[in-house]
Amino acid sequence: MTAAIIDGKAFAADLRGRVGTLARAFEASAGRKAGLAVVLVGEDPASQVYVRSKGKSTLEAGMASFEHKLPAETPEADLLALVEQLNTDPAVDGILVQLPLPAHMNEAKVIAAINPDKDVDGFNVINVGRLATGLNGFVPCTPLGCIMLLKDRLGSLSGLDAVVIGRSNIVGKPMAQLLLAESCTVTIAHSRTKDLPEVVRRADIVVAAVGRPEMIKGDWIKPGATVIDVGINRVPGKVEGKTRLVGDVDFAGASEVAGAITPVPGGVGPMTIAVLLRNALVAAHRNAGIALAKDAI
Ligand code: NDP
Repeated sequence: MTAAIIDGKAFAADLRGRVGTLARAFEASAGRKAGLAVVLVGEDPASQVYVRSKGKSTLEAGMASFEHKLPAETPEADLLALVEQLNTDPAVDGILVQLPLPAHMNEAKVIAAINPDKDVDGFNVINVGRLATGLNGFVPCTPLGCIMLLKDRLGSLSGLDAVVIGRSNIVGKPMAQLLLAESCTVTIAHSRTKDLPEVVRRADIVVAAVGRPEMIKGDWIKPGATVIDVGINRVPGKVEGKTRLVGDVDFAGASEVAGAITPVPGGVGPMTIAVLLRNALVAAHRNAGIALAKDAI
């Protein structure tokens, strides 16, 4: 079997287009643009790239982008004061504080300070609780993007066996909650799981969010399963001095067995920013009291 490729890049481009159309309609009814604020503390190179890319995508989608760059040595109290200012700014619908924060800051405290109704990353405990109890809140962008790809590929996920490998707060746990909400039978695997290959072999849906290059092998995959590879790992390239990106799944091996699989790059990665824009637009509608059809985006 040769797996179908799940084209996250194309899906994300389509989602961004739909967000752009709805953002223009929002501006016409609200008399202002939907606004997303991104806060970056320090000079972490990867974070700088993400923040630049988020700002550019926000503008391309027809929304207002507010970027706040603070030096690494900023006192935590100053960051909390900025978050409070953004919480009350009517032009700001969504707030994203780029992680990781410098070591002298308490990430949990900063995330807890974000107004849950502007928490478009879905990391605030109120939104974590809303997701766990089936209430309407904001869901972390990467797992929500994975669910969109799965539903687009498979339609109903009801009754399917799903294995999520990884239990982080930003990917693994919310992913498992979302699969459970779709009536999958969900197993969460992690570094202490016994006989991981055998656990993965039971799954109709495999979501890999481990951060270990090509760890999940082709012969762990049940024939016909759908494989979502969240991992982004930089490894040495074939040409000396060059690097390349690989996922957590051995793509060549798994694509011989799986029914469908996301590539890396071009699978889950492009979904994250597209879903962030979607969440910001949803926040804008809620904040302005403008209705948005449940399945509009
Ligand atoms: P974390 O490091 O926070 O979590 C990794 C998880 O993998 C942990 O739960 C850990 O288990 C588990 N794990 C580690 N080693 C093993 C092992 N040998 N066997 C089984 N489980 C193992 O990572 P994240 O969740 O933040 O990210 C995971 C991957 O997804 C990374 O490659 C990251 O770059 C990528 N990512 C991609 C995004 C995108 O936009 N596409 C967004 C976010 C992340 P334990 O808890 O027991 O330690």
